[in-house]
Amino acid sequence: MRNKSILTEAKQIHLATELIQLGARLQVLEMNSNLSRERLVKLYKEIRGVSPPKGMLPYSEDWFMSWQPNMHSSLFINIFNYITVNSEIKEIDALIKSYKLYLEHIQVNSLQQVLSLTRAWTLVRFMKSEVLCLTKCVKCRGDFLVHSLEIHSNHVCGLCNIPSRAGKTKKSAAASSKLH
Ligand SMILES: [Zn+2]
Repeated sequence: MRNKSILTEAKQIHLATELIQLGARLQVLEMNSNLSRERLVKLYKEIRGVSPPKGMLPYSEDWFMSWQPNMHSSLFINIFNYITVNSEIKEIDALIKSYKLYLEHIQVNSLQQVLSLTRAWTLVRFMKSEVLCLTKCVKCRGDFLVHSLEIHSNHVCGLCNIPSRAGKTKKSAAASSKLH
């Protein structure tokens, strides 16, 4: 018979609760929890007051390549790598911790939140499967997300080379420079 520990279940509920509060989709919860789908749906409804959205998760790696998502995703994955290398925090706990730090950074700098928790989770998977990787910007030496299959020598990041449409207003240019 399966041994159902109350403590283990409590931990699972705590983890799922945290993920739901941060905006995780049902698929992300299912893949990171031992709780049944029914219980996760119930928990989701209790916390958010609505049923979890149906449909596929956003899966395109190209999303991470457009200007603003690339800046935010690069920031997030730098935080994530720092935490996983320099602490004992790993896997889903590292994702939660890094995502909270990302949100803090966004709030402190009055930036718009671009990266959702589900996208952040997808990003970590893309990094693991080596679809995406980091490369150094030749100008600022920061690490930025790129497609693994592209050639990265002489990569200039989106902050060192702001596209005209992204730098239309002084305000948005100032906001983006804070990401450095
Ligand atoms: Zn740069």
